Amino acid sequence: MLVDTTGLIAGLFSLVPILITSFGVLLELKDTIFSNTSQKLTNDGYDFVVVGGGSAGCVVAARLSENPKHRVLLLEAGGNPNPFAAVPLTTPFLQNHPATDWQYTTAPFSDSSGVSMKWPRGRGLGGSSTTNFMMYMRGNPLDFDQWANITGDFKWSYNNVEHYFKKMEDYHGIYKNNLGKHGRNGPLRIEPVIYAPGLDYVLEAVKEAGYTFSPLEYTQKRGRRYSTYSAYIKPNLDRPNLEILRYSHVTKIHFNHNLKANGVSFVRRGGTSYVTTKREVIICAGTINSAQLLMLSGIGPLEHLKSVGINPLVNLPVGRNLQDHVSTIIGPFMLNKPVSFMPPRDVTLISIGEFVLNGSGPLSSPLGTIGIGVTSSSSSPEWPNLLHIFASLGIYEGLGATLDQIFGTENYYTNLFSTFIEQDAHLVNLSLGKPRSTGFIELKDGNPLSKPIIYPQYYSDPGNQDIQDMIEGYQMLVNLYENTNSLGKKL
Ligand SMILES: Cc1cc2nc3c(=O)[nH]c(=O)nc-3n(C[C@H](O)[C@H](O)[C@H](O)COP(=O)(O)OP(=O)(O)OC[C@H]3O[C@@H](n4cnc5c(N)ncnc54)[C@H](O)[C@@H]3O)c2cc1C
Repeated sequence: MLVDTTGLIAGLFSLVPILITSFGVLLELKDTIFSNTSQKLTNDGYDFVVVGGGSAGCVVAARLSENPKHRVLLLEAGGNPNPFAAVPLTTPFLQNHPATDWQYTTAPFSDSSGVSMKWPRGRGLGGSSTTNFMMYMRGNPLDFDQWANITGDFKWSYNNVEHYFKKMEDYHGIYKNNLGKHGRNGPLRIEPVIYAPGLDYVLEAVKEAGYTFSPLEYTQKRGRRYSTYSAYIKPNLDRPNLEILRYSHVTKIHFNHNLKANGVSFVRRGGTSYVTTKREVIICAGTINSAQLLMLSGIGPLEHLKSVGINPLVNLPVGRNLQDHVSTIIGPFMLNKPVSFMPPRDVTLISIGEFVLNGSGPLSSPLGTIGIGVTSSSSSPEWPNLLHIFASLGIYEGLGATLDQIFGTENYYTNLFSTFIEQDAHLVNLSLGKPRSTGFIELKDGNPLSKPIIYPQYYSDPGNQDIQDMIEGYQMLVNLYENTNSLGKKL
């Protein structure tokens, strides 16, 4: 006898945000009961204080504490990763959620729309690697070489950094038989996409159109999320020279008279503490909060610091030249065959069991993402500047609301999808990899707990090249889904 579990599964889905909140509360309670700040902090200072235990901070703290002579303190504003983060399908629910995210919203855009956008940023150990879409892709070698040129430091060149990629990787991806280019002995597990309905059609169509795209690879282990916390910190929690203080929000970096950082203040459980360092303070608080913390500590644009009552120590353009890979979702491209991931249809008790036992099936998928590729617009023929991420995602009741929640687009996607409910579809996230437009971040005021103000200034470049490049990417995708034999004519 077949039992219809659709209602049960939909019910479970709607519980996910509440369960994430509950686990968040429990994790903080556990920390309050079992971790005591005053017992933990040593009196004679640390060699290194790492601020922020996110993607970068976990790696830095783990690598520095490999040397038993280094005493390392990692201060993280959030707590341990929420258990739900391990299940890739819950990824969208982690965005903008108070238990896992900083919940940033940009300033309203200066155009006539007056729209603001959400800017999700992970909060807690692993940082945004605990909440992101887990896609693994090395940067373009040209970018690294450009950084080497700009900084005059060859260490940034791709030839030099390639060794570190290999060292980091425990690679089980699609090129696992070509281990010359990848590493197997590093801590960060990389696996190929497991659940990918419709991927073959996409790869065929892309080939027809003259490009080469790939199946996605993720930072996953047996289908579960593998953040930098899982890779670098969890295996080293018992190191006596590595201390981690959770729920510790750093509010200021302190400097000696030579402007060398010698300590930080942080707020934990409502009280302020101060800790000193003998060697370095390393700021790994992410794009937004690193800029915020530097400005709060007196390093930033002089006039701006004065305007919010901060004593300027060094006049530097901190928070300026903000570049974000502006994205737009192209689609939905409607399909005539059931070759997309349709959660109400495809998430069943069996698929839940599949994930629990084998780490496979739809629960291993961050919202149906399947393939990835880069192309060049005509303004950048030698250097790919458009990123295409394919999501095989049927339109179901609630998908619009989920996307509106991630992007802060009010009811835009809810309305857009309302006439396509229960139809198979693909969506493509198109991003501008090398935007010319720049924005900036400023402090709202001198209060370290106030959210900074984010001005992305998308599509503000004087020549309007950014929007032209995006239009070319859009045209390429429409052509793919409308005119190729493998997609447009077949599905
Ligand atoms: C929704 C989303 C999806 C993404 N998807 C992908 C993807 O699929 N693939 C990919 O490669 N990249 C992806 N990214 C980007 C990637 O996750 C980030 O570039 C990367 O995680 C940034 O690392 P970070 O160490 O600079 O910052 P984070 O990982 O954000 O870490 C910063 C850490 O510092 C902590 N912190 C901040 N302020 C303080 C303070 N004052 N005191 C103490 N602690 C503090 C934070 O809580 C956080 O843990 C995505 C990002 C987002 C937001």
